[in-house]
Amino acid sequence: MAHMHGDEPTNEECADFLERIMRLIDNELEEGDCVVVRAHIDTCNPCLERYDLQRTVKAIVARSCSETAPSELRDRVRVQIQEIQVRISEG
Ligand SMILES: [Zn+2]
Repeated sequence: MAHMHGDEPTNEECADFLERIMRLIDNELEEGDCVVVRAHIDTCNPCLERYDLQRTVKAIVARSCSETAPSELRDRVRVQIQEIQVRISEG
């Protein structure tokens, strides 16, 4: 994965957005915030990737909840989310 420098938002900014991205996916964001978060996702590739991943994760979890939830899969998803969060906070 290429590491870009320059006009990328700061990690701190993206870490803040990640929380709101999760809430956007959960439909817990107010309309005004949705616009801000979507605008950021549009211009920030790492956040777009996280948004896509979170949506995928949610879809997997939703699917595994309706069936017999494979705990192995849920653990893997949880680890994946933690890794992303660590990567963001470490920069
Ligand atoms: Zn971002």
